[in-house]
Amino acid sequence: MSDTTDTPKVLDIGNRCVECGEDTGPGSGRFVNRIGADSEWTTNAGVTIYVDGWMCAECEWGDEDDRTMRAEARLSEYAEAMERGDDDEAECCLSELEDLAGECDAETNTEIAKVLAAAGIID
Ligand SMILES: [Zn+2]
Repeated sequence: MSDTTDTPKVLDIGNRCVECGEDTGPGSGRFVNRIGADSEWTTNAGVTIYVDGWMCAECEWGDEDDRTMRAEARLSEYAEAMERGDDDEAECCLSELEDLAGECDAETNTEIAKVLAAAGIID
């Protein structure tokens, strides 16, 4: 045991995203599209910690021009939540959709506009 100082710690971060640290558990709005993932985190002290958790859709897809996919993902989560009668989850998805709508210019992105209009978020 005395020569194991380099043995990496593996931290099970549960439902957290290994990239952004957000909760991806049920009710978080990130549950449906998360994927199992692991990564390395480095502490302020320079210690590398291997983390075992999930990756949320936002981190998997990046944050560039994938808002349409994100919107579609939220939309399907919303539909599933409505089916389950999970109002909290549905409301959460809706507010995320509204955030996405605010991020994009619907006039210049017809795909997003279509998705959001289908959800009744925008006209
Ligand atoms: Zn993430």
